[in-house]
Amino acid sequence: TGHNVTEETLNFARKRNVTKIIVGKPLHSVWRDLLFGSVLNDLIRRSGSIDVYVISGEAVEPSQPPVTQTLLGMRNPIQWKLYLRAFIVVAICSVIAGLVFPFLESANVVMIYLVGIVVVAVWYGRGPSVLASLLSVLAYDFLFVPPHLTLAVSDTQYFITFGVLLLVGLTISTMTTRIKEQAEIARERERRTASLYSMSREFANNSSADALADVAIEHIHDVFDSQVILFLPGSDGELQTYGSDEAKQKLNEQERGVMRWVYDHGQEAGIGTQTLPGSDGFYLPLQTHQGKIGVVGIYPPPAPIAYRMFSPDQLHLLEIYGNQTALAIERARLSEETERAQVQIETERMRNSLLSSVSHDLRTPLAAITGAVSGLLESDKKLDPHSKELMQIAYEEAARLNRLVGNLLDMTRLESGSVVVDKEWQPLEEVIGTTILRLDSILQDHPLKTHIPDDLPLVPIDSLLIEQVLVNLLENAVKYTPTESPIDLSSWSEAGEVVVEVADRGPGLKPGDENRIFEKFYRVRPATTGGVGLGLAICRAIVEAHGGRIWAANRSGGGASFRFTLPLDGEPPQVTLDDE
Ligand code: ADP
Repeated sequence: TGHNVTEETLNFARKRNVTKIIVGKPLHSVWRDLLFGSVLNDLIRRSGSIDVYVISGEAVEPSQPPVTQTLLGMRNPIQWKLYLRAFIVVAICSVIAGLVFPFLESANVVMIYLVGIVVVAVWYGRGPSVLASLLSVLAYDFLFVPPHLTLAVSDTQYFITFGVLLLVGLTISTMTTRIKEQAEIARERERRTASLYSMSREFANNSSADALADVAIEHIHDVFDSQVILFLPGSDGELQTYGSDEAKQKLNEQERGVMRWVYDHGQEAGIGTQTLPGSDGFYLPLQTHQGKIGVVGIYPPPAPIAYRMFSPDQLHLLEIYGNQTALAIERARLSEETERAQVQIETERMRNSLLSSVSHDLRTPLAAITGAVSGLLESDKKLDPHSKELMQIAYEEAARLNRLVGNLLDMTRLESGSVVVDKEWQPLEEVIGTTILRLDSILQDHPLKTHIPDDLPLVPIDSLLIEQVLVNLLENAVKYTPTESPIDLSSWSEAGEVVVEVADRGPGLKPGDENRIFEKFYRVRPATTGGVGLGLAICRAIVEAHGGRIWAANRSGGGASFRFTLPLDGEPPQVTLDDE
């Protein structure tokens, strides 16, 4: 902000190390430049090392009436009444001068006109005061310079009086209007700062998005004297409308379309812009670096179209309001999210500690029961077949319970982060071999085929954990498929990772279950075998801790296939072969 376009532009440019300035070609007549000076010439002469480019802009639409901007940046029609009042003031001055003329020197009569010019400048502004200066010279000449009541001048010395009167009149009017302008600008700026300040204070006192929207609407409405509407996406992603009923009434299908466009494209649109200028409102997207927050729409009061557009200054202010609002709403959203996440973490932690304490307490008695029953079964004592069968059932069920409790414990340990993945470069076929040995008894009724290429690279893994993954997958393949159905275990390397697949020829997975079966405690109903739905969740936790992925799919030809990847990050250790 300043008085001189050239000076302020260059000051700004130098402060920001600007190297090029682009200006539009002047379209006004050369006379204006001669009278008031040319901004363009001035800019070129004083720009120094900065390049100035002069371009011809786009053609101005002839339908738009010329707009006069007032000091506040708002566009107002020329007020002819003020010019009429300037005329009346000069007339009054002439009457007073006529009354005192017989008693005063003619030079002092001029002073009366000067007072009139000052009054007009203070009350009515620049244009009327320039008119008053000209009228004063004419009136003085006509009424008080001999020959009276003509514009003729007998004594040429009077021309000096005219010249000085005009010059002083114009200077006074320029100075006073400038001071007035500055006072007004300062007042306006203070009003805006105060409003922004009170808006941010109210933002700080509110934490819900709804309340923040109301605060923003109230303040923007006050400063711009326009109806304001705000669109924020709700939890379901649909845009919700905030604003007074009056503002909402303006929102027809077309306006909604413009608003939607602004939200989708993140660009302003509406009246006074290049995009969809036919609409009633001006729409500004609310954005932060995190993304879209919503849209603010503002409907200027009814007036001829050119006067309803916003000046750059106002747009800038509106942007500031928009940014403040977007930040406040984003802050509210983030704090809501953090709170929710906190609650979830807390619940999870409680559940985990409950589970782990319960499973710990179950483990010891279970171990005692299985030990006792297997002791009995293996003892030399002759048991009748019925008791032996019951014993066997008790033993198997206790063992199953033991596995389940083991799974629960594993899961809670994995989730609480107390399991450290201790990666070492290992040959995968060895881990697969140990797993198959471990599961020898349960794999009896299922022919298992392994497909492992000889050149499978070493993989950085925690072998105990990966063994657990294979155990769970193979156990499932046995549990959920009929006896004698074959199981395929394959592995291969591709694109920087090793893929392992356990595939069966069982009933396969129901569509839609492919992802859900990896969730904790998810079981496909009706459940055919005992289990709690933790096996696959454990697999996923382990694989993800290794930086890999796990997924399931149905095989062509029937059956399910479970695959997981293990990334080959880093360099495997170099094995140096000893000569000995
Ligand atoms: P659990 O075996 O304890 O039920 P899991 O997490 O191991 O829990 O498995 C979750 C669900 O996935 C099981 O209830 C089962 O219905 C389904 N499922 C797992 N493996 C297979 C498979 N090989 N074939 C068909 N369904 C399977």
